[in-house]
Amino acid sequence: MEEEQGKCIKCKERIEEDETIHNCDSCLRQIHTQCAKLSPSEERCMPLKKRISLYICIECKALIARMPFIMKTLDEIKLDINQIKQNQINNGGQRKTYADALELKPTANTEQTIIIKAKNKKNANNTRKLIEEKLNPSALEIGIKKVRSTKEGDVIIKCPTKLEGEKLKTAMINELADTCTIEKIKKRPTRIKITGVDKKENKNHQEVERNLRKQNTWINEEDELTVTFIKHMKKNDNLTIYVECSAGLYHKAISQKKVYAGWQQQH
Ligand SMILES: [Zn+2]
Ligand SMILES: [Zn+2]
Repeated sequence: MEEEQGKCIKCKERIEEDETIHNCDSCLRQIHTQCAKLSPSEERCMPLKKRISLYICIECKALIARMPFIMKTLDEIKLDINQIKQNQINNGGQRKTYADALELKPTANTEQTIIIKAKNKKNANNTRKLIEEKLNPSALEIGIKKVRSTKEGDVIIKCPTKLEGEKLKTAMINELADTCTIEKIKKRPTRIKITGVDKKENKNHQEVERNLRKQNTWINEEDELTVTFIKHMKKNDNLTIYVECSAGLYHKAISQKKVYAGWQQQH
């Protein structure tokens, strides 16, 4: 960047004192007036303080065009970071402070899982064969994330989106309803596990919820959360609390690193 200073964005030549220039309204770098190739009316607008038309250099334009892609990449990076954080939390044995840890079961909000139970089931392989004979997911344009068999002889298929899951279920019912039952699996709500919670101030579910809301500003009033289970830990005389919440709140919780629930200040 240092080298670019004093040079025209377009022709890369040094800008001399007697040359007229404009600045890109986005990156503020300089460009020769003749290099900007503005129309005469645009030219007249440029010196105005309150003008509607902006001059955006070619590099900024290219960047703006890539914005949707950049945002998508950013979202992916965020997910990766959350995953890494979660792994650290799960692997790290050093959570010693109060309410220091979250153990979470992330559930991608969009996935849909279908369970296929053969009516006269013997083993899942037969059911799988039957499915393969009757259905071709790629022809139906259904993505399959995972196929799994259970000991009970059921086949479980995970689709990346609800829509694809729905499509698969309909196709299955059309083809296999006489031999199989086909059901959607309802996903359990996202669950947060909070460890190392002080037990004196968290005697029951209501008190835990009240403390969570009072002590964690990132939980909004309208956020739904349900304390489902309070476990007394014999080892350190603390509580471990399980809270069900939306995926959104779950992600907020992850980014906090700490959740407070009647904790004692540590210095
Ligand atoms: Zn130039
Ligand atoms: Zn620019």
